[in-house]
Amino acid sequence: MAGKSKDYVVGVDLGGTKILAGVVAETGEILGRVKAKTAAEAGYRNVLSTLATSVDLAISESKIPRPRIRAVGVGVPGPVDPETGVVKIAPNLGWKNVPVKKLLEKQLGLPVLVENDVNAGTVGEHRFGAGVGVKDLVGIFVGTGIGGGLIFNGTLYHGFSKAAGEIGHMIIDVNGPRCGCGNKGCFEAMASRTAILRELAAAIRKGSKTVLTKTVADKNMRQVGSSVIADAFFRGDKLTVKVVKRAARYCGVGVASILNLLNPEMVVLGGGVVEAFGSEYVHLVAKAARKRTFEVTFQGVRIVPALLRDDAVLLGAASLAREKAERAE
Ligand SMILES: [Zn+2]
Repeated sequence: MAGKSKDYVVGVDLGGTKILAGVVAETGEILGRVKAKTAAEAGYRNVLSTLATSVDLAISESKIPRPRIRAVGVGVPGPVDPETGVVKIAPNLGWKNVPVKKLLEKQLGLPVLVENDVNAGTVGEHRFGAGVGVKDLVGIFVGTGIGGGLIFNGTLYHGFSKAAGEIGHMIIDVNGPRCGCGNKGCFEAMASRTAILRELAAAIRKGSKTVLTKTVADKNMRQVGSSVIADAFFRGDKLTVKVVKRAARYCGVGVASILNLLNPEMVVLGGGVVEAFGSEYVHLVAKAARKRTFEVTFQGVRIVPALLRDDAVLLGAASLAREKAERAE
């Protein structure tokens, strides 16, 4: 019963551009939210120091006395060994083998759990979002890239080398476009926002008419947000509708393989692309998946949009930290 009064944890979402921190109650309520900039170019010690300050600030803003804080959970953008808390690689941050757990525990004086952000986001949706009460769940987050998380029997699955869930690099088309990982036709290269923008730009170069001609030509491609594409989509821009529908179909192809392989109870679709295109996108994905699965692997499976948006990683990291602390009692 020693931990009875330690009823709060801090969750942190460490992203390539921003850090979100908040104190999380057992109910999933977030108190004392703090947002800070990630100055990745200043090096990992600097980023971790900002992160630690954000945690301290969140605790003081929440008005929860520090002795009631049990642990800190951090979601990071890259593969992590959850036992040692070493971030193996985080390209967005320029990190390689950074001992995040060790460094933060020293600064904060609290137990720290570090998890991959997509895994944490999947756990967040499972504990507090779309997947509450579901046993077997797959989370797929579609944005600039595509990431995934696997929950079996209520527990996050890490795999042999703690690298499971690289859904974005399942190959959909061996002759497809080149992926950032070097292979061709990965899920991510076929269905992410990057893929949608690439297809739009190629069609524009070939002379297709679209309301996005100027936007795509003027901007660095990575800067065109999902909401801009969604705006053109919902206005019925022919090219955008065609390209987005094709990307959603490819997403359905990816989901079909996952359903045939794992037969989960639920697939949660999240990330900027899914948020921007909403239920119409989810419907297109489900339709494409249905065509490519056995009746028995599709029947009854719920393919649903994520609910927690920007809070998913923070809440998932907090849950994992809480559960680890409880197991240690
Ligand atoms: Zn790839």
